[in-house]
Amino acid sequence: MTDPVVENVDILIVGAGPVGMTLHLALAAGGQTSLLLDRRPPEALQADPRALALSHGARELLEQINSWPTRAATPIETIHVSQKSGFGRTLIDRADYALPALGYVVRYRDLAAALAANLSADSLLAETEILDIAPDDDGATVSLRHSGRLRTIRCQLLVHAEGTPGNDPAVSVSDYSQHAVICEVTPIPGHGKRAWERFTPDGPLALLPLGDEYSVVFTLPPARADAVMGLDDDAFVAALQAQFGQRMRFAKPGQRSRFPLALRLRDTLVKRREVWIGNTAQTLHPVSGQGFNLGLRDAWQLAEILLDQGIHGDSLASYGASRRLDRQGGALFTDRIVRLFSNDCAPLKFARGLGLLGLDLCPAARHFVAARMIWGARAWP
Ligand SMILES: Cc1cc2nc3c(=O)[nH]c(=O)nc-3n(C[C@H](O)[C@H](O)[C@H](O)COP(=O)(O)OP(=O)(O)OC[C@H]3O[C@@H](n4cnc5c(N)ncnc54)[C@H](O)[C@@H]3O)c2cc1C
Repeated sequence: MTDPVVENVDILIVGAGPVGMTLHLALAAGGQTSLLLDRRPPEALQADPRALALSHGARELLEQINSWPTRAATPIETIHVSQKSGFGRTLIDRADYALPALGYVVRYRDLAAALAANLSADSLLAETEILDIAPDDDGATVSLRHSGRLRTIRCQLLVHAEGTPGNDPAVSVSDYSQHAVICEVTPIPGHGKRAWERFTPDGPLALLPLGDEYSVVFTLPPARADAVMGLDDDAFVAALQAQFGQRMRFAKPGQRSRFPLALRLRDTLVKRREVWIGNTAQTLHPVSGQGFNLGLRDAWQLAEILLDQGIHGDSLASYGASRRLDRQGGALFTDRIVRLFSNDCAPLKFARGLGLLGLDLCPAARHFVAARMIWGARAWP
């Protein structure tokens, strides 16, 4: 029997979601080739129901690889933060930052399409099943099945961008006992490019302006999420209205989907010649829309280091070190907000109200939070 032919690539990226595609395109912009592979067909990304709030900084990065979906992006001009049945609120306004917007809301599918439009035909092996990964000190050998054919690919660097991990001993999981029910609704009157983050004892409720609609992220304990998923449209709007209050009315809810929520943190980002980026490295609660923004910065930083320093142990170690503060900051920020705000404890409610008031009255504190939303890592001291 003859040995199988081994194909060589410098960098193999497993997972052609938005983070994997961003890495491929950022490397290509610097003249470095890589090969993407995904277990699903490319059309699968078009079925994802999520809308993503992207920071102004994310827009700037995506523009550099011609992947900013201009016409599909709705600017956020103000963000209103409040708590249900409690005092205190904060308003963050783009006018304070001399920016066109604090951030943007984009459908996952439109972002994926904008990125995929820049891929060359031979850069993606779709519908590919990985059969084995054999890592060593100089790279990895990957056996896979594509179009019914067995292939063996040898790479100097294997990047994992497979999205939220399943059971994996290298990933710590902290369950929030919350599910996000998402859908689009029509606001009456219009949304005026305002996003709302409303904290309730069940979990945060976010309304993100998207075209003429609001994209709703309605966070609830699992049993209540079951009930809300089963409601007819009128009853669903009533449940949403009860959580949000009466400042605005909602109509015409679209199709609902749900996502169980947990914090998943991988213990290491780099192991010999393997690197983990995006949701497979860290999956956060969607409160304050940090997840993809963080994964995008993973991809960007990795591309910059590889283009600048090449592929070797030192450059990969420097990548791991460079991401520590941003990912820990993002995980801590979202985790603390969820745990501090998702309860009905009277003293905490009072403290939260004071905090929201304080943020509103103290421009320096408000600007710190706003900078985190606008720039992500660059906002940390
Ligand atoms: C309800 C909700 C709302 C959110 N809102 C926001 C927001 O407002 N802002 C924000 O920044 N983030 C938000 N997020 C987070 C955001 O969706 C993720 O951070 C982002 O999608 C991660 O991208 P990714 O490319 O890492 O993973 P994914 O988008 O999951 O893509 C992973 C890809 O890898 C492929 N794959 C998986 N396993 C394999 C395998 N074994 N072999 C080959 N291919 C494989 C998959 O088919 C897929 O194409 C939200 C998340 C949720 C659940």
